[in-house]
Amino acid sequence: MLMDALRGKKVLVTGGSRGIGAACVRMLSDMGCIVGFTYLGSEKEALEVKEDADGDVFVYRADASDHDAMKRTVTEFSRTGEHGFQGLVINAGIYLRKSITQMSIEDWRRTMATNLDGGFIAVREALPFMKDGSIVMISSQLAFKGSNLGSDYAASKAGLLGFARSLARELAPEIRVNTISPGYIDTDILAGDSDHKRRSRIEQVPLGRIGTPEDVAAVVAFLLSDQSRYITGSNIDVNGGLYIH
Ligand code: NAD
Repeated sequence: MLMDALRGKKVLVTGGSRGIGAACVRMLSDMGCIVGFTYLGSEKEALEVKEDADGDVFVYRADASDHDAMKRTVTEFSRTGEHGFQGLVINAGIYLRKSITQMSIEDWRRTMATNLDGGFIAVREALPFMKDGSIVMISSQLAFKGSNLGSDYAASKAGLLGFARSLARELAPEIRVNTISPGYIDTDILAGDSDHKRRSRIEQVPLGRIGTPEDVAAVVAFLLSDQSRYITGSNIDVNGGLYIH
């Protein structure tokens, strides 16, 4: 039923070359969406995601914090197939993992520019092309809990929550806006973990495992589809019970 709900929809995903974003691209494409995604960094990685996907996938190299690059990307994607698009997933994000005493103003600004300004820029440029549809932003459990090695990150992700809630009011009833707050998800963000650190993370999770990128992508698909038609301004925790609030 969910598959049918998404067939033919056009969705733009920021940061789709690996991790959660790449899982979203693959799953949405499998469900019959026409997907565009941005990336920064490895073109090879991005093209592999495109090749892996079943359907029509369009790849754009665009820094989420670069207003002109995002404007070009959004305009180009809106012109593929039927004009405009119906889904936007704000996923691109960085986590520098620094304590406040190590953090420079440049670090702080880089995190805000990617994680929070990036959300604003994508929405601002996408709106003229979205008559109706759904916007999903990937926040984090750390927006609620705080982080002792990422006050910049937690602040940027908490900012996304306020941004999304405000947009949910402002853009209703045509466009729904929701957030997802993942817990520990198996991507490059956790790649530096020692075995001990990984075990200790798993012990904290009531559902007994680290999440997969597909665990998050499945909820993204739900929030993009009409199955969630009466949900806006909400946050869904995808964290295995790690943080219950
Ligand atoms: P990842 O590092 O594996 O992938 C990040 C993606 O974002 C890549 O495709 C990268 O190219 C892209 N990206 C980074 N900076 C960019 C920029 N300036 N412009 C365009 N693209 C950019 O990370 P992930 O774990 O898949 O994280 C995806 C999102 O989920 C992030 O917003 C992250 O904060 C959030 N998140 C992740 C976890 C986790 O445990 N993995 C937990 C909570 C929230």
